[in-house]
Amino acid sequence: MSLNTITVQHLTVSYQGQKALLDISLPIAAGKITGIIGPNGAGKSTFLKGLLGLIKTESRNVQIAGDSIDLHKQRIAYVEQRSALDLSFPINVLEVVLLGTYPSLGVLRRPKKKEKEQALAALKTVQLEKFAKRQIGELSGGQLQRVFIARVLAQKADIIILDEPFVGIDMTSEKVIMDILKELKKAGKTILIVHHDLHKVAHYFDEIILLKKKLIACGPVSTTFTNRNIQAAYGETMGDIVIKGVADA
Ligand code: ADP
Ligand code: MG
Repeated sequence: MSLNTITVQHLTVSYQGQKALLDISLPIAAGKITGIIGPNGAGKSTFLKGLLGLIKTESRNVQIAGDSIDLHKQRIAYVEQRSALDLSFPINVLEVVLLGTYPSLGVLRRPKKKEKEQALAALKTVQLEKFAKRQIGELSGGQLQRVFIARVLAQKADIIILDEPFVGIDMTSEKVIMDILKELKKAGKTILIVHHDLHKVAHYFDEIILLKKKLIACGPVSTTFTNRNIQAAYGETMGDIVIKGVADA
């Protein structure tokens, strides 16, 4: 196992006494793109927030390189599920991307030329340099998600965690983002993406984690993305949908 493998042990979360996640233990491979797959309400977002220590957990032990993930927060970029964000907040595109540079700034230091250049370069990578002064409330879903990816780039994190980045966005934005993520993987980054659409799983991910309150399965797509596991996560409601790239083990 690589030193940067994230090891999750006994992650259990309840909301008002109701279990949302039950004793999840698994490794997350370093330097790969891992998809977290499962139906609505399966606990995918809860898994990310629990892993990161952003919510109260009943039990939690998450380690990187032998110590608590909580000591590695500066190495992690996290983009939460979009519906959770307040888009009426008066902030422009460049300011959102500059937020990514804050962890590397000292206390009470304002972003200067270097950080601005970093943020503008990130905006260029997501092909939105012309939108720097635009209010975020005036962007399409796809443009907004690209701005959040630019923030991730500006942060220069080693571990990138995205919750449903492709929901409600156009195909061009999805492709721009996926191409960037594949480049980041080549550069050795660890990428974790919550995704509920099964059709592109084989295309996008190296490894998957199938969740439905409990861990259904995890591992390489080729051995884990099987009809049996998909049925176990999504149930009979799936019917006879044929999914490309499913291994019939
Ligand atoms: P997913 O991201 O897979 O759709 P979530 O992690 O958002 O699932 O939610 C898992 C379960 O926990 C759902 O039943 C959801 O209604 C419940 N839940 C999520 N967040 C809260 C909360 N803040 N308070 C109470 N219940 C919650
Ligand atoms: Mg969710």
